[in-house]
Amino acid sequence: MKDKLTEIISLCKRRGFVFSSCDIYGGLSAVWDYGPLGVLLKKNIKDIWWRTYVEKRGDIVGLDSSIVMSEPVFLASGHLESFTDLLVDCKSCKKRFKKEELIQKEDKFFCPECGAEIEEVQPRQFNLMIKTYLGPLEESSKPVYLRPETAQGIFTNFKNVLDTMHKKIPFGIAQIGKAFRNEITTKTFIFRTREFEQMEIEYFVEPEKAEDYYHYWVEERKRWYIEELGISPKNLRVREHSLQELAHYAQACSDVEFNFPFSDKENWRELEGIANRGDFDLSSHAKLSKEDLSYFDPEKNRRYIPYVIEPSAGVDRTFLALISDAYCEEEVRGRVRVVLKLDKRVSPYKIAVFPLLKNRPELVELARKIYQDLSRDFVSIYDDTAAIGKLYRRQDEIGTPFCVTVDVESLEDKKVTVRDRDTMSQLRIDLDNLKNFFEDSLRC
Ligand code: ATP
Repeated sequence: MKDKLTEIISLCKRRGFVFSSCDIYGGLSAVWDYGPLGVLLKKNIKDIWWRTYVEKRGDIVGLDSSIVMSEPVFLASGHLESFTDLLVDCKSCKKRFKKEELIQKEDKFFCPECGAEIEEVQPRQFNLMIKTYLGPLEESSKPVYLRPETAQGIFTNFKNVLDTMHKKIPFGIAQIGKAFRNEITTKTFIFRTREFEQMEIEYFVEPEKAEDYYHYWVEERKRWYIEELGISPKNLRVREHSLQELAHYAQACSDVEFNFPFSDKENWRELEGIANRGDFDLSSHAKLSKEDLSYFDPEKNRRYIPYVIEPSAGVDRTFLALISDAYCEEEVRGRVRVVLKLDKRVSPYKIAVFPLLKNRPELVELARKIYQDLSRDFVSIYDDTAAIGKLYRRQDEIGTPFCVTVDVESLEDKKVTVRDRDTMSQLRIDLDNLKNFFEDSLRC
């Protein structure tokens, strides 16, 4: 296999998963668009997350807060002061890097791009926040920021949610949405982008119970990737941060890491961070806003600022992890078959329907009718724009678990051929039984 990441990027573009943003104008660096197949896969990831945490449990409620937020929010959160990377310029190729990306040999540093020695490593602090203005007069309006994480909208709404939903601690607030960071290093496809999407929960707990809940969430989030998304356990691991790595306010933090197909030495990279943030966020916002963000426990007759456990996941990194985990090249009768062995719960289409011969109107008509019937219950696609072998290969490449083919015999025996993506085995199924068959086969 050629470089796996190159193959995946090419597949994503060729099959309508991911396009570079502003493509017809030469692209926009580190910003990507999701095409017709990409939105389906992304929606499945987000829907499964939302169902698991907001719909199936009673202790977490949802939120959709604004992307543009005012300056005090980020003064309180600490982002304006310390959400920075250390930036180093290479005088030779004029590119910029994070200090930790430089190649170090003994006490010398070299550019990772052109190899030139960096003689003066004097990094500058570079803030990753994206600043803009609202209103007609830039000069007189206060700056606002595109949020660098969805979390701050949760903290600023803590009191609103508490007052309206009457939740008792422990409870959580969940949010899925866009976040923006002016990242310096961006050459890893959708792994690190300047506009991306997060799925975050802030889970509020009694301070004494925070450590137990932190361990619970680390395990729960790892379980979710394996059991709900079908990612192979061998490609996932949990890495606990050392004390030196911890942010000053964090009590503990672990990353769920995925074994990404990058060609450099370190492929285990962060998919999600789970942190015990103590009461840092609510206390800082309470101080600056002068709002009371404490919680009163009527049973224990006790008032306190809750601690918060934050599982913070990236939709785009999960997307890349899923495709990387599912991507296979198999040799079938002397040819390479590219197949995305995605779990059926996440695959963009569940069923593809084809007529065996597109010049036979009766077959086209029956196939279209089957497609319309199945579409009521399953996300399906109809295709008659190529010969059958090619149609199967197209669906294999985008991970469709089942293909239904209507042939001349179908008109007589009212049966169709159902082909399984992974085993390539074929079954004849009665049309009357087709919906039941898929209900059983696609059931989670
Ligand atoms: P990294 O160290 O890789 O930059 P981080 O520790 O800054 O990540 P967090 O602030 O913990 O990331 O954000 C939570 C999650 O949001 C990450 O685990 C990741 O999945 C996602 N995320 C963060 N930054 C980006 C980005 N620039 N592009 C895509 N996803 C991102």
